[in-house]
Amino acid sequence: MTVDDDDAGPAGISSTAWHKPPPPTLAVPRLEVTEALLHALPKTDLHCHLDGSMRLKTILELAHEQKVKLPAHDEPGLAKAIHMGELCKNLEDYLVAFDVTCSVLQTEEALYRAAYELAIDAAAENVRYLEVRYAPVLHQQRGLKLTTIIDSVLEGLRAAKRETRIRTGVILCGIRHMSPETSLRLAELCVAYKNRGVVGFDLAGAEANFPAKEHKEAFALILKNNVNCTAHAGEAYGPESIAQALHNLGSHRIGHGVRLREDGDLLNYVNDHRIPIECCPSSNVQTRAVTDMKAHPLKFYFDYGLRVTINTDNRLITNTSVTREYMVAHQELGLSLEDITTIIVSGFKSAFLPFREKQDVLKSVNEEIAQTLKRFEHEQR
Ligand SMILES: [Zn+2]
Repeated sequence: MTVDDDDAGPAGISSTAWHKPPPPTLAVPRLEVTEALLHALPKTDLHCHLDGSMRLKTILELAHEQKVKLPAHDEPGLAKAIHMGELCKNLEDYLVAFDVTCSVLQTEEALYRAAYELAIDAAAENVRYLEVRYAPVLHQQRGLKLTTIIDSVLEGLRAAKRETRIRTGVILCGIRHMSPETSLRLAELCVAYKNRGVVGFDLAGAEANFPAKEHKEAFALILKNNVNCTAHAGEAYGPESIAQALHNLGSHRIGHGVRLREDGDLLNYVNDHRIPIECCPSSNVQTRAVTDMKAHPLKFYFDYGLRVTINTDNRLITNTSVTREYMVAHQELGLSLEDITTIIVSGFKSAFLPFREKQDVLKSVNEEIAQTLKRFEHEQR
């Protein structure tokens, strides 16, 4: 596993690695990759939507309290109505679930609870750093102020941190199919809340017919204020969407990037600049961004040397966890334990955290990974 060499790693594409690979800084023992092991390892989730990651039970309880009408009144019925873990026809079909979750996320209490429970659930599977993203404008149906919405989510995350010590950051999302003015208003909020819990800006929503470059004014404000940003790109649209995210918006990371493989030149640009890809394998199968898991480019990107990270996207709608995504990557894409530990470290390296804080986190994470592997080596003997 490579730790601090900024990824001159497994692909062997750095000039020094070409002739003689550097010795790994951490020897990864031969171990059976079990769910218990993946669960125990410290992890990140950098691409996780608040409104796609609620507990099913909570939606039902909130709807009851708020007298909101849902398409079903029990957990199995609601799971079916939102296509939970099912194959969808396309991305638009997948996005229907958000109408349901957002219908109950229109009060301070509901936003607080959703954020709190998400961070608690992530901490329970040893996610040590979670970036939660959402679009505040989707929570104004009952007249909440944007600032109240942001404060409620931040308070929920702080409460979870007090209990579990999980580190979190919020990414505010602009939405492609909404007006560029709306994105600009959200970017202003991002700037105001910089260093106050908000760590970045994102562009989400349907890619087809809604090009990223229309939102470049919002991103210009973000960059002018030295705020981190990412964008959903190359999920449901071709590599030109990724090029726009990078060159018109100045995105620091790419959400999904499934179709980056179609443009070798851009692939090399992303690799050369160490631009992290926020991979969400199961979600990509569910939305038909890939035909099936075997067709997912994650392993190819990793083998080629790209900085890939593994994330959930939507814990509820995709019926997943970070642990489960790593298990899928191991079982269906053939990632080894060494690959997995490298990707885990890439997650921490790609976090929207200040450099020195990140160095501290990486140091303790590397120690914890080594201890965890040692413990499992002993147990599996
Ligand atoms: Zn997403």
